[in-house]
Amino acid sequence: MSAESGVPTYRGRDGIWESYNWRELACQEAFDRNPEKVLKFHELRRKAVLKCRPHRGHLWLSQLQKKRTGISIITQNIDGMHQRAGNTDVVELHGSLWSVRCLCGKEEILSEFYPSYRCEKCGVWFRPDIVWFGDSLDSQIIEKALEEISRCDLFVSVGTSSVVWPAAGFPLHAKKNGAYLLQINPEPTELSHIYDTNLRLPASLALSEKYFPIEKYFSVIE
Ligand SMILES: [Zn+2]
Repeated sequence: MSAESGVPTYRGRDGIWESYNWRELACQEAFDRNPEKVLKFHELRRKAVLKCRPHRGHLWLSQLQKKRTGISIITQNIDGMHQRAGNTDVVELHGSLWSVRCLCGKEEILSEFYPSYRCEKCGVWFRPDIVWFGDSLDSQIIEKALEEISRCDLFVSVGTSSVVWPAAGFPLHAKKNGAYLLQINPEPTELSHIYDTNLRLPASLALSEKYFPIEKYFSVIE
């Protein structure tokens, strides 16, 4: 979703980790060693995100959520683009660039570009509330995602390579629970064969009434 808005991606060719060393910028050890450097890097990421805008696929999702209840979004993106487009019920598996937390449990939301700051109570820097290398995913968030997937009628995967755990297990989980599976991806993925329908299109195009007549899907399901 985000790549089409121009948000720099982290993995893959031309990804951020091709030109930056995550060992110095995106793990707890790096933060403990040099918090200012790590925070500066994340401020740059937020600035880059602010230069981008949600695309029409994001906006179409917002319209859809206003028309139909029970549509939730589970994302591996950390840029908050869904929320900026007005999407609701967003489960962020890898956390958010816009959220920070302290060891004491205090959490804060950054509303726009904001220089990093310290926890008043502890005097230490707030760390970005994102899943860094070596971090485990928040088990409550995974649980929430699995709960949504267990009761979904229509599972739509958009643009993920389907290889990063735990998201890789989601379509199978949905299928096991009787959902209809739709994959939107310009390229086939390792899991394409388990989907009922594959739309080989970019997200900004596929997420539209023309290519994804959702009422038709629901009339088949219901
Ligand atoms: Zn604190």
